[in-house]
Amino acid sequence: MRLKILHVIVVVVALVALPVLGLAQGGLVQLGEGIYAYADVGGEDPNNVFAANVGVVVGEDGVLVVDTLTSAEEAEVLLADIRGVTDKPILYVVNTHYHLDHALGNNVFAREGAVIIGHARCREALLASGEEQLANPEMMGLPPDFWANTIIEAPTLAFEQELVIDLGGRTATAKYLGWPSHSAGSVVVVLEQESVIFTGDILFTDFHPFLGEGDLEGWAKTLDAIAAMDMEHIVPGHGPLSTNQDLMDMKAYLAEFDAMATELAASMDDPEQITAAMLEKLPQRSLGDFIVGFNIMMRYAPPGEGEYVH
Ligand SMILES: [Zn+2]
Repeated sequence: MRLKILHVIVVVVALVALPVLGLAQGGLVQLGEGIYAYADVGGEDPNNVFAANVGVVVGEDGVLVVDTLTSAEEAEVLLADIRGVTDKPILYVVNTHYHLDHALGNNVFAREGAVIIGHARCREALLASGEEQLANPEMMGLPPDFWANTIIEAPTLAFEQELVIDLGGRTATAKYLGWPSHSAGSVVVVLEQESVIFTGDILFTDFHPFLGEGDLEGWAKTLDAIAAMDMEHIVPGHGPLSTNQDLMDMKAYLAEFDAMATELAASMDDPEQITAAMLEKLPQRSLGDFIVGFNIMMRYAPPGEGEYVH
């Protein structure tokens, strides 16, 4: 069943998404002393096919990397960008969650000696699904050799609530905010002193979010909890540097999406028809239209047994 849904997704990705996806120029932006991010990766960048953001935090002793992009090749480019701003050792990676565009470049940083950190449910999910993902790049509309040098490196250090990471002269805290959200093991990374938060895919700004595995109730609470932190710099999982208003827009989007999709799925069976209707009515997001179809098929109108969309 899972494979079947993925198969349908591939078709949607291949037909609808790729023209939208091709994504932007890389390059780290500086948020503060020793704090960098990829943010607003929204154009055509073959080095970041799903336009995922990352974080880089440099302490006196070494570097923390938040998320690792989709493949070893993409992670090598990220590593080169990091080497452009610091030659300190890369001590840690935090995966905000297990999805391919945030965790499949892990092996490049493990090779550099970094400890890979994630929520216990992120570790479990990556161990359960990673190999299947690597074996089937076509499922995501990717070329056959896309993961040629990629090895699944699940977190070797897993936590349930929070973990304080001392980089020397500065700390970063990886936190589970109390509820499942975008995924069961989605976490944020917070620099309290510097008022910076890396939210992973708990926040998508400008992009339609992937919510196929989301816990919408827990997700809304998580967005409220992040807004209550009132951080100066909010780095979403996809999209530009964001504000508390973006967190509230995301919360409203999730509620609207769920209400609309539930209503449409009650009267229509065809996921493509539902998706088209959704795209007309949904709040404005400029990128990632294909994700809407993905969400509809995974959550609201799964294809029937033996049925494929071609
Ligand atoms: Zn994700």
